[in-house]
Amino acid sequence: MSLYEIAQNQWRHAAELMELEPWIATILSEPKNEIRVNFPVQMDDGHYLLLTGYRVQHHNILGPYKGGIRYHPQVDIDEVKALASWMAFKCALTDLPLGGAKGGVELDPKQHSKNELMRITRRFTHALGENIGPDYDIPAPDMGTNAQTMVWMMDTYINATSAHDRFAMRGVVTGKTLSCGGSLGRDKATAQGTVYALESWAERRGFNFDGATFVVQGFGNAGSWTARLLCKKGAKLLAASNSRGVVYNEKGIDPDALLAYITKHKDPSGFSGAESIPDKQLWQIKADILVPAALESQIDGGNAGDIDVKVIAEAANGPTSPAADDVLREKGITVIPDILCNAGGVIVSYFEWVQNRKNERWELEEVDRKLRRLMTVAYDAVEETGKRFDLGQDTRTAAYLVALERIQAAYQDRGIFP
Ligand code: NAD
Repeated sequence: MSLYEIAQNQWRHAAELMELEPWIATILSEPKNEIRVNFPVQMDDGHYLLLTGYRVQHHNILGPYKGGIRYHPQVDIDEVKALASWMAFKCALTDLPLGGAKGGVELDPKQHSKNELMRITRRFTHALGENIGPDYDIPAPDMGTNAQTMVWMMDTYINATSAHDRFAMRGVVTGKTLSCGGSLGRDKATAQGTVYALESWAERRGFNFDGATFVVQGFGNAGSWTARLLCKKGAKLLAASNSRGVVYNEKGIDPDALLAYITKHKDPSGFSGAESIPDKQLWQIKADILVPAALESQIDGGNAGDIDVKVIAEAANGPTSPAADDVLREKGITVIPDILCNAGGVIVSYFEWVQNRKNERWELEEVDRKLRRLMTVAYDAVEETGKRFDLGQDTRTAAYLVALERIQAAYQDRGIFP
């Protein structure tokens, strides 16, 4: 099954249970727009590279399209369509007035200098042209992109508009640096949302984070922040990985020291605070919490049987294959599904967008308080809906049901034009 087929099956299963009106299912069956651009960029050594970028806009019934931009060698139209679909349902689930989109460029950012990445980003933004805009489609960071990438996108976009409108156009992207209109708390938002979701899970089970153990796959933005926030709550990081290596220490790893090491050396393997272990062993470590925070389809029929944790918090998008979902349910492992678990990123992106529109700067305490509220409300809605449909451990389907009920209500009220 392709990634997009997996994404389709997830919402279609929920659609059948709730008897979603067939005409709405028909509309949702394909994204509204699939944009593909090929654009040339000059490299530092003078040669030219022709790159391919995508932007897929799933639907905008609830508000402007919204979703990240990924730089990764595996980016292709199928992956971007799946990611756009997940964004659309995530925004609906968390009740944001936003639709869903995703974009990406097929490249390995590790192979490019900062100047090359700037030229790639500016050229890609220019190629997207009017397909993005602060009231139309608002990108954000994802894998391989960051606050700097967003500032380059914003700067390129606003320089193509009239001088009078430039300031008002800052909200064309979110996840910017603080000096360029970003929001406090956006850097840790995805992880903070994941931790709030875990708190909701823990509260219902009387689970205590103090002394609890966890494992993180993907020590980037989402993964490293989740590790730092969980350690602050007294939990112990047993193992962490990135694309280059995996490290383990049964006594616990200091996430700040590991991050500092990775920032300097890229590969965690030589980190003195832990031992290097083979990739596969990451999934076999007994812990309370597992946080996949890297790519899609990392937990599959092959390794799901080895997993020995109480809860999987999907900070990544689509980390669990359908076959793995079945195995995990049989084993009684709770999955906090991606469209709920990692929604903190888009929620604080929404806050940034609102602040840009109002020309305000919210305190971190306010951002966190509002984020906690939206995450808790969404978590409760998933629990309530799961009970209403008697779904047991199938939290993923429950999350899609909440989203689909909101999307259906909007389509029913509006109908289609003409
Ligand atoms: P990132 O680029 O900051 O970090 C990704 C990390 O994963 C890197 O450390 C990378 O080396 C590692 N990685 C890649 N392939 C790996 C592999 N095979 N094994 C182990 N590690 C691997 O990206 P990010 O923004 O943290 O995104 C990570 C995930 O979280 C993605 O699925 C993304 O869609 C999702 N997400 C991110 C945000 C956000 O705001 N950044 C929001 C919602 C969801």
